[in-house]
Amino acid sequence: MISAKNITEDLNIWAKSVASVMMSRECLCCGKALQAFETDICTACLTDLPSSYTWAEEDSPADKVFWGRTRIEKVTSLFLYRGQYKKLLYSIKYKGNVRLALRLGRLLGERIAEQHIDFIVPVPLHPAKKRKRGYNQSEIICKGIEAALKKKMPLAAIENRLLERKNFTLTQTQKDRADRWENVRSAFGVNRKRAEEIGREFSRRGKIPSILICDDVLTTGATLDACASLLHRELDCRISIATLAYVP
Ligand SMILES: [Zn+2]
Repeated sequence: MISAKNITEDLNIWAKSVASVMMSRECLCCGKALQAFETDICTACLTDLPSSYTWAEEDSPADKVFWGRTRIEKVTSLFLYRGQYKKLLYSIKYKGNVRLALRLGRLLGERIAEQHIDFIVPVPLHPAKKRKRGYNQSEIICKGIEAALKKKMPLAAIENRLLERKNFTLTQTQKDRADRWENVRSAFGVNRKRAEEIGREFSRRGKIPSILICDDVLTTGATLDACASLLHRELDCRISIATLAYVP
């Protein structure tokens, strides 16, 4: 559905893309001058991208983050969050580098092409943060994934109404791990109406929807666990996870 809000958001993303094209002509990772055909990352740094190989491994360390918590089919991360490669996420999150988010999202999508996906769901950003940043980096990564899946799974679509972010901030006193995980959960919600619509549509076809929840980075897994467990409560579905980076 095209709304004024969507158009404003798209314009905002477009403006950020233009701004990111004007960025410096140095490799974001090593700082060396880029060749004319390179953007953001030099060929050497791209070749050396510390691959997480989570997609190729059965029961990978990233899969194990969720063991004993929420049922997750598969966790796929593009690269390990370390060294100079941390700068890539910084550029996406704080420098408005939408172009890089799309590009890495596409690469991530290529690792997912063997899985069946019906919905690509971004982790929603706190509304105040989204206003300030002008975009949700997870949504942009999802656009990259969607583009990569287009050939094999033309029906896999971005679904950004299902998960909601509440206006909720953690307090300093919520320190112990169990509390923290529970509190992260209360920062998110599921749009029940949308969940019911999807549930009805799929049960009519005798199918269970496969959902891919997407974020920029997997660290403790608390945020993604919160989103996945809330979705499992409201909808009979299979859930996988995709992130650009993984902190081992
Ligand atoms: Zn480089």
